[in-house]
Amino acid sequence: MQPKTTFSTLSFSSLLLAEPLLKAISKLGFKLPTPVQQKSIPLALEYKDLLVSAETGSGKTVAFLLPTLHHLLTLPSKKIGTRALILAPTRELTQQIFKQCQQLIEFTDLKAGIITGGDDFRLQQNMLRRNTEIIIATPGRLLELMEQEIPNFSNLDVFILDEADRMLDMGFSEDVLTIAKSCNAQKQTLLFSATLTHFGVIKMADKLLKNHEIVALNTLHDGHRNIEQQIVVADDNDHKQKLLAWLLLNETYDKALVFTNSKIQADVLRGPLRAQKLRVGVLHGDMDQKDRNRMMELYRDGEVNIMIATDLAARGLDIKGINLVINFDVPRNGINYIHRIGRTGRVDELGLTIALVKSTEWNLMSGIERFLKQKFKHRTIKELQGKYKGPKKIKASGKAVGIKKKIESKKAVVEKVKIRHRDKKNIGKRREPTNSSPSSLQVKKDETIDS
Ligand code: AMP
Repeated sequence: MQPKTTFSTLSFSSLLLAEPLLKAISKLGFKLPTPVQQKSIPLALEYKDLLVSAETGSGKTVAFLLPTLHHLLTLPSKKIGTRALILAPTRELTQQIFKQCQQLIEFTDLKAGIITGGDDFRLQQNMLRRNTEIIIATPGRLLELMEQEIPNFSNLDVFILDEADRMLDMGFSEDVLTIAKSCNAQKQTLLFSATLTHFGVIKMADKLLKNHEIVALNTLHDGHRNIEQQIVVADDNDHKQKLLAWLLLNETYDKALVFTNSKIQADVLRGPLRAQKLRVGVLHGDMDQKDRNRMMELYRDGEVNIMIATDLAARGLDIKGINLVINFDVPRNGINYIHRIGRTGRVDELGLTIALVKSTEWNLMSGIERFLKQKFKHRTIKELQGKYKGPKKIKASGKAVGIKKKIESKKAVVEKVKIRHRDKKNIGKRREPTNSSPSSLQVKKDETIDS
């Protein structure tokens, strides 16, 4: 019986990649393909369509770029039009793919270009006219260009969708399908997503892929082995602010990333942290592209070593040396949590992530732990202990016992008051609902469902 080939036996050279690519890999200092590269590169080299799940930071960009570039170097050259089209959800991500691509094509004559909103329209039109082989684009701007003048995607060798789940969450589904329709049918399509348990991704795969293979790797349930995950409970946002400042002043890190759920909260945190002489920057979607680029540069160069960001920065941000991620607000779901903490503990790095959790966020956090099938370590900051120590009683599910009851009893009070009011003033009369009472009841109802 043949011994099973273990993944660790596959080296970059055994993948039989074109020489200039091996040279670039060696210059980048990559020793071995990462697991997602080991699994997907051989299949992609066979020109198969793929649906790949891989966590951010797993080396997924190289996993789709290497086989694609190999095809461009070895398949007969097409004289006209783009040969590889890569769609990604955010400008930041396109820039990172572009950077990685430039490193890999250094020893070839291939040319790559970016098409995203916020950059010069004419330059991008020219780039398409010059038949740049590799185009890395966000769907929105590419469609705008397509409305002006149809770029030639009839000779594509490879079509790639990166972070497809995110693209769908951002509402790009129709755009992606329109772009896909303008491409030739014979191309290879590679669809990368953080999760395969996203209904939209499965639907999109059905529409775009032919006889595809699935590479399921490091799905969201696998957790991050190189990230230590902690929870610190807090009384309220003021208490959280003190805890945040303490952590940023006392933890050891090269770069820290602090996530909030809103742009306003991100802005609110900046002042007090700067007052503590911390080098803080802010990154969110209300800033124009120039400011966002500048902020990223300052962070990359280490001029600021703490970035407060909304989820916009959670995807695609690949900056070396982020070894502390603090969730000031608990993210709204497990998928966002994964993307946030995925900014640290990237290939060969270790990271620490701390979630600040107040009582109203307890159940959300325990839901995330359940989703990830993990229990995070609880930590207390002695100097800043608050009143809230977590719920008094915890259900087997990890949720707090009692919150639902409390809300229900409040709801009962609201309903009781309403009955008395009606009993006194409107006996027998039919009343149209007022603006306030139904919505307040609605909120209570929603809280009960959410808790
Ligand atoms: P990604 O998951 O594509 O965002 O990649 C995360 C980081 O891993 C990037 O900085 C890559 O340059 C790096 N990387 C990709 N492949 C390898 C590899 N085989 N060995 C070491 N680092 C890698």
